[in-house]
Amino acid sequence: MVASTMSGAALFGCMSAWLLGGLVFEAIVCLRQWRHLAAALRSPSQQRLLRYGQRRALFQWLAGFERVARIAFWLATGALAGLYAALQAYGGVGVLLFAVVFAALDQLLCEIRLWARWWCVDRAAGMSTSTVGAVAGDSARRLMINSMLAVPACLWILWPFAVAPFGWAWPASGVLMIAGIAFLFWARPNLIAPLFERFSPLAPGELRRRLDAMMQRCGTRLEQVLVVDTSRRSRGANAYFTGLGRSKRVVLSDTLIAHLSAAELEAVMAHELGHYRCGHLQRFYASQALLLFGGYLAIGMAVAWADLAVAPTVLAVAAYLMLPALGWPLQAWQSARRRRYEYEADAYAAEHAQPGALISALEKLLANNLTAPTMDRWYAAVFATHPPGAARLARLRAIDG
Ligand SMILES: [Zn+2]
Repeated sequence: MVASTMSGAALFGCMSAWLLGGLVFEAIVCLRQWRHLAAALRSPSQQRLLRYGQRRALFQWLAGFERVARIAFWLATGALAGLYAALQAYGGVGVLLFAVVFAALDQLLCEIRLWARWWCVDRAAGMSTSTVGAVAGDSARRLMINSMLAVPACLWILWPFAVAPFGWAWPASGVLMIAGIAFLFWARPNLIAPLFERFSPLAPGELRRRLDAMMQRCGTRLEQVLVVDTSRRSRGANAYFTGLGRSKRVVLSDTLIAHLSAAELEAVMAHELGHYRCGHLQRFYASQALLLFGGYLAIGMAVAWADLAVAPTVLAVAAYLMLPALGWPLQAWQSARRRRYEYEADAYAAEHAQPGALISALEKLLANNLTAPTMDRWYAAVFATHPPGAARLARLRAIDG
């Protein structure tokens, strides 16, 4: 978008100041975490934990920097408008080609941070078990998936502009965007994740029997309890609940199964069932969709107010780039919700499994995943999707008596 009018220049100035303000704020917060860890982890045996935690804080900031840098590259330099102008001469095919080239180049820009994070954080701390070839394979798959999704996404979101004027077509395309995100929410566990990792049903046996009995006690029956081959990429251990309707599932990493006892796995599984029973996933994504829709409307209104002459295709791509970056003050609110969900899932697990087993599972996970037990207050408030380990353990011990 090139600011061609006075109000366009004002809009551009306000947006730049807003984004830079966010980067400065996040830099202060991440620096606080860096210093908090340096003060909290002083003994020689904690140096690996310290380095890993500090680098993660640095890359937390770099993720925000990357969002702003991509906006600067595509919008401030006029690269996006230039690419569109060059390809739209070829008509409808040219517009689709524009979407594909943008998606591929933008993903390439994202890969820089992903590679640096793998090299400087996960590999340096000994947490990664990936080879350079495997990481390159993941990059290639992401590039391919993004480029392939660009064409249907473009057709889907731009469709209203073919039949209605901007004032109606923009909100309608916002509704279609939300529907598209809902589709991705279904597609991610079912179609996309299996391209990166291998999922297999938990084999029959002692563990399967215990988990089935526990689900029965909870009055819940999940169709799928899957094991994912995380060990091919990472030493980290993890479990999560995902999917809707018949595709809902709990996924346990093979590293988790290798490190925890059956009672501990049962407690972790009860925690994941807690997320399911409390409807956390739906609640979180519903609020996320509302926020995105509101932001999308606001961008359309701002462009109409500034009287900018922007093709809907370019504006939709600009909105895709800007929405995650413009919403930086909402991050703390979203993180707080997610931490509350974790406490709710912990309380559910303590009720339906042994609280002591969840405590020892959590202790093992913190150690295995190189997670420092404490965090800076501000950093936790803004970025932590899980409460600091020490706080979670203290609550569970209070329940356990
Ligand atoms: Zn959880």
